[in-house]
Amino acid sequence: MREITHLVARFREAGLKITPQRLSICHLLKDDRTHPSAEEIYHKALEIHPSISFTTVYKTLQTLRELGEIQELNVDPERVHYDPEVRDHAHFFCQSCKSLVDLEMDPLNAWMMADLFPQVEDMEVHHTQIHMVGLCPKCRDKKPEA
Ligand SMILES: [Zn+2]
Ligand SMILES: [Zn+2]
Repeated sequence: MREITHLVARFREAGLKITPQRLSICHLLKDDRTHPSAEEIYHKALEIHPSISFTTVYKTLQTLRELGEIQELNVDPERVHYDPEVRDHAHFFCQSCKSLVDLEMDPLNAWMMADLFPQVEDMEVHHTQIHMVGLCPKCRDKKPEA
């Protein structure tokens, strides 16, 4: 996700008014690496704009996604999470505490992709998401011995 001034310009280009509510949502997301859900963003936005609706928050998230400024992560079966980091990186989702953390990785190039997934040679890849699911170190240690 780029600087707020860029986002304002992009909203305008898309024919959208930049309202104080939309601006707050951009600020809330900007440096958030916790991968919040729409509900979490809504609750934070409520503290700033007590009359903001969930629909406004949701629509703003959809717009930011369409503009390519945030990505949607579909790894948690209970909710969609949002990520202001759109560069290639992987995620680990803990099924016990529901934490969703970043796993840094080198950008995938076409050669590596073709090596890992030979079928993509005939495809045009626009976007890659890699998710791993399991137990984080804390929850793994809490697990009773079988
Ligand atoms: Zn955990
Ligand atoms: Zn991430």
